Amino acid sequence: MPALERIAVIGGGPAGAFAASELARAGREVLLFDEKLAWEKPCGGGLTDKALAQWPFLRDAPVERNWVSDCELIAPSGRQVRFRLERHIAIFSRLTLNGLLLERARQVGAQLRRERVLQIDKSDGGWAIRTASGGYTADFVVIAAGARNSLRNGFAAPLGPENFMVAAGYYIPGNHHTVQIKFLKGLHGYIWIFSRADHFSAGICGRMQGKSTAELRRLLENSLPEFGLNLDGASFYAHIIPSLTPDALRNSSFAGEGWAMVGDAAGFVDAITGEGLYYALRSAELLTEALLANAPEKYPALAKSDFLPELERAARIADRFYGGEWMAGPVVERMIQLTECSPRFRDIMRDLFVGAQEYSDLRERVYQGLPRIAAETVVSGLRNPFGTGQTTQQGKAGRLAGVENRTQ
Ligand SMILES: Cc1cc2nc3c(=O)[nH]c(=O)nc-3n(C[C@H](O)[C@H](O)[C@H](O)COP(=O)(O)OP(=O)(O)OC[C@H]3O[C@@H](n4cnc5c(N)ncnc54)[C@H](O)[C@@H]3O)c2cc1C
Repeated sequence: MPALERIAVIGGGPAGAFAASELARAGREVLLFDEKLAWEKPCGGGLTDKALAQWPFLRDAPVERNWVSDCELIAPSGRQVRFRLERHIAIFSRLTLNGLLLERARQVGAQLRRERVLQIDKSDGGWAIRTASGGYTADFVVIAAGARNSLRNGFAAPLGPENFMVAAGYYIPGNHHTVQIKFLKGLHGYIWIFSRADHFSAGICGRMQGKSTAELRRLLENSLPEFGLNLDGASFYAHIIPSLTPDALRNSSFAGEGWAMVGDAAGFVDAITGEGLYYALRSAELLTEALLANAPEKYPALAKSDFLPELERAARIADRFYGGEWMAGPVVERMIQLTECSPRFRDIMRDLFVGAQEYSDLRERVYQGLPRIAAETVVSGLRNPFGTGQTTQQGKAGRLAGVENRTQ
C-alpha cells in the first residue's frame, strides 16, 4: 500500500486533536477540521491517573486544571462515604483541554481549519471533503466528530437510542477538591459534581431510553442544594454520551478502506462511568500507530487487543450495576456501605476511581478479599450498631471543609 501521506481529521476534540498531533509529528500532512476548534464541550472533564500516567504532558502542561484529592459517594438511601484518593484526578475545563491538544497539533505542523465538514465522498483512490467554504482531498479520513455526528452514517450503520445516555448539567461558579457522585433510585446513571479550576461541572446522566433531558435536569436541580450549590451565575449544558451495548461494541464497524473512527464517534466510552477521554486518546494513539506503519487495517485488531475487552465488560455489567442486587441489597447501596465499613473494599474503590483497577479482575479481587471485607464490616457494625452512614441532610458544607472526615 502506498504511504498515506495526506490525512484529514474531522473533529478537533481530544481524539482528533491527539491523532493530528501524533501524525503531523511523524511527518504526515494533516488537515484537521472542527466547526468550533477549542470550545467548552459539555463534559465533566475528569482525567484519571491512568490517563495522566500514560500521557504525562497532560499532567505537566502549564495550563489551568483542578486536582481532586477526595471522593464522596452518596447512595439512593442517603448513606454516604468520603475517602481520600491516593493518586489525584485532574479536572479540566474542556476549553482548556481541547485548546492544549489542538495547540500541540498546530505546533508540529497540523493545519487546523475552523470549518464544518458537510460531506465526505470517495474519489480517485482517496476522499473528497466538502465544507461550507470549499473542497479538499485526502488519502485517509479520521472521523473524530464525537457522539452527535452526522457523518457517521456514510461509513457505518447508525447506532440506535439504546446505545446512548443523555447528560445535562450546569457550569456553576466555585470550586473545592472533592469529586462527588450521587446515585438515585431508578436512574441508570448518576449525578456528578466535578470541580474545575474556577467552576463546577455539575451534571446528571441517564439512559436515553429512560428519563428525558427535562426530567434529568429537574432531578439535578433538586439535588444541587444538598451540595451547597445553586444556579446563581450558572449556565446550562446538555449532550449525549455513547454507551454501546455489548452487541454494538462487538459488531459495529469503526474502520474500513481509507477511513477509521476514533473516540466518541466510534462509541468508545465506558458504559458504567461515562468515561470517554481516556478511550478517545487511546483509540487515536492506536490508529496513529497503525497509520504510521502504513497498515491502517491493523487498527481494529489493536483496539480489540487493547481497550475494547474492558469496554465490553463494562457494557455487560452496567445494567446489573445500576439495577441489580448484591448481598441482598441494591449493588450501589452495598458498594457504598462496604466502602464505608471496610478499609480493604475502600482500597478497591480508590483504585477504581483513579483507573488502576480494571473490571477484568475486579470480581476476583472482591471475592478474594471477601473474608476480610466481611470481617471489617462486622467489626464496623459492632462499633457503630446504628450505622455511621451520614445522610445527605447532614451538613454538606462542613464535610467539604474537612470538618468531618470519617474514612481515610
Ligand atoms: C456531560 C458529559 C460529561 C462527561 N464527563 C466526562 C468525564 O468527566 N471524563 C471523561 O473521561 N469523559 C467524560 N465524558 C465523555 C467525553 O466528553 C467524550 O468521551 C470525549 O469528549 C470524546 O472525545 P472526542 O474527541 O471523541 O469527541 P468530542 O470531544 O465530542 O469532539 C468532537 C469534535 O468534532 C467536532 N465536529 C463534529 N461534527 C463536525 C463536523 N461535521 N465538522 C467539523 N467538526 C465537527 C465538534 O465540534 C467537536 O469539537 C462526558 C461526556 C458528557 C456528554
